[in-house]
Amino acid sequence: MHEYSIATSLMGHIERQARAHGATRVARVYVRIGELSGVEPDLLQTAYEILREGTLCDGAPLDIARVSVAWQCAGCGRPIAPGETLVCGDCGQPARLVAGDDITLDRLELEVPDV
Ligand SMILES: [Zn+2]
Repeated sequence: MHEYSIATSLMGHIERQARAHGATRVARVYVRIGELSGVEPDLLQTAYEILREGTLCDGAPLDIARVSVAWQCAGCGRPIAPGETLVCGDCGQPARLVAGDDITLDRLELEVPDV
């Protein structure tokens, strides 16, 4: 399952960040999933819930935000609206994808003990 391996690498990122901050527990995880990333949020949620058991994320909800696809001119940076031809009307350069094709760990809510 594709989402299972994504969740595994996500857990790795989370645990490294949590340890780097001296956290004893992760309270909540926020990720952003692009429309074109090929990741099914429901499946990722399920995989995460299986993997988080016994880790710093045990009991921490996964908050998934969908990110729409966005295009921009590679030449002048003009945003290309959805449905528009993927060539810039101003300078004729091809558009490039600037959002919506990946999955990112947005932020973590961590429980850090007072020192
Ligand atoms: Zn342009």
